[in-house]
Amino acid sequence: MSYLNERLEQLYPEMVELRRYFHQHPELSFHEVHTPKKIAEYLTNLGVEVHTGVGGRGVVGYIRGGKPGKTVALRADFDALPIQDEKDVPYKSTVPGVMHACGHDGHTTILLSVAKVLSEIKDELAGNVVLIHQFAEEIVPGGAKPMIEAGCLDGVDAIFGTHLWSPIPVGEIGYRSGAFMAGADGFDIEIIGRGGHGAVPHATVDPIALGTSIVQQLQQIVSRRIDPLKPAVLTVATFNAGKAFNVIPTTARISGTVRTFDAAVQDEIIKHMQNIIAYNCEHAGATYTFNYEKGYPAVINHEAETELLKKKAIDIIGEDNVKQIDPSMAAEDFSYYVQKVPGTYFFTGAGNKDTDIIYPHHHAKFDIDERSMLIAAKILASTAVDFLNNK
Ligand code: MN
Repeated sequence: MSYLNERLEQLYPEMVELRRYFHQHPELSFHEVHTPKKIAEYLTNLGVEVHTGVGGRGVVGYIRGGKPGKTVALRADFDALPIQDEKDVPYKSTVPGVMHACGHDGHTTILLSVAKVLSEIKDELAGNVVLIHQFAEEIVPGGAKPMIEAGCLDGVDAIFGTHLWSPIPVGEIGYRSGAFMAGADGFDIEIIGRGGHGAVPHATVDPIALGTSIVQQLQQIVSRRIDPLKPAVLTVATFNAGKAFNVIPTTARISGTVRTFDAAVQDEIIKHMQNIIAYNCEHAGATYTFNYEKGYPAVINHEAETELLKKKAIDIIGEDNVKQIDPSMAAEDFSYYVQKVPGTYFFTGAGNKDTDIIYPHHHAKFDIDERSMLIAAKILASTAVDFLNNK
């Protein structure tokens, strides 16, 4: 076993302890105070150069190698979610209504552990390692964009990152070159008709009749307007109107999400939505507001970096456990990093049916098999070192 793997195995008990500490002290996106402080302290104790407040609440560590070479970045996010922890474990969240229900506590621990082992061998490193601890991944506009604007990718030649993923069993990873995670947008439509008596519909402009018709037509955008070989989702998730059984209300509100992998498909969907809403409202004598908020773009992984990651993962967990997976319709602001520099994002299996670690991400009983952290740390550390040595 290589030195790095051996050293990370030694660190495993500390990783578990650290992860449980973060798990017990979660902080919401854009409200992280204690977490970045703890990260900065840990890195400072390693002798790593630390920049805090990057792009807002981000922490960036710099390990300068003893020999000249390229610069590789590794990224982990550290925010939690507004969910009440319902797990019955000694390390459950101590903050009411806030929980690490997406594994970002694990991501943080993985990156700190990788920082520790790489800082120990920094004199032998041919190049530099940038440790990007990102705040606010869960809420658009996210922390990646301001951190990049603040310069966290300056001089970086490639970036790697992973998400612990409970739908994949611990011991496996899922990778993919090209489109890996979808772009996620939100929309909100208000239809303003004219209310009145339920018995006298012809004297009203009924926003419910109009709104349901609009919803039906929105459902046909993906099925009738978009190339079937280009994945897209349009989901109407809320429809709110009316209060009484015999009153036609004045307004109806509709909201939902659009997921795409391709900016041209995204633009096409927005154009058709706009046309459907405008045409129907005009025809019925209603007015409307239509707010479409573009969220994170799709995560598009680069080929060479994905190949390197795959190769290193096979070395560590064996070919049978390194799987090319279908793209996920979930979203991630890792997209902004790989728009700027080459890199790849992959899923590290963290589920375990035998120990009841079966709950999906963002669930009140979400947990990870902690051994996933060790696997991810080994893969990221060796990928980073290999990138510096080979290029
Ligand atoms: Mn997440």
